[in-house]
Amino acid sequence: MDALDAWLTPRMLDEKIRVLVADARRRHDLPDGCTGANACARLGLRLRRAPLPAGIDGLLADDCVVVDAALTLQARVEFSIYHEIMHHLIEEDGALIEYYTARLRRDERAYRAAIERCCQQGAAEFLLPQERVRAAIAADGVTPQVVGLLADQAGVSLAAEAIQVAHGAPVECYVVLCRAASDGPERQGHLVLGGWVTRASAALGWAA
Ligand SMILES: [Zn+2]
Repeated sequence: MDALDAWLTPRMLDEKIRVLVADARRRHDLPDGCTGANACARLGLRLRRAPLPAGIDGLLADDCVVVDAALTLQARVEFSIYHEIMHHLIEEDGALIEYYTARLRRDERAYRAAIERCCQQGAAEFLLPQERVRAAIAADGVTPQVVGLLADQAGVSLAAEAIQVAHGAPVECYVVLCRAASDGPERQGHLVLGGWVTRASAALGWAA
């Protein structure tokens, strides 16, 4: 990726992430639907499961992607692997690191949050390409009900889909997912409500 000298809008940053993912797909021959384990192998990264502190799903230690051994939901495991792969790709590319280092050098927390957002978006792009989400939105529009539908069809996590719907929507909006409190086993059904809020109207909708 070329050096990013000027301030970029959120949409321009979204595009940078999409280009980074598309470039990695091409360079490492990662087909649509490639599993995280397969992607790690093709990128020369090791993958292992190990107990991690509460609240940490995964981490990247040198060339090793570590995913919390306690995660059982496969869609969430896949999302975590691709999130860590994004850390590797962003480090390797360097342009986004430089961009945020230059702009957020005095705010370590904001810097980390910005890189995390990039990794979340990139992971979602790997699992559910924006192209497919935009085609679905063009056909059916953005409705609360769309949250969950694509995730079911593609077998990806609701978080991945929510990120892609928010980025692919024709108007700026937030997609909100709520997790129901439960002591039971981890399952996708814990994310029971999907909603969206447009910045313009603050209209709110809920999917059952
Ligand atoms: Zn991260």
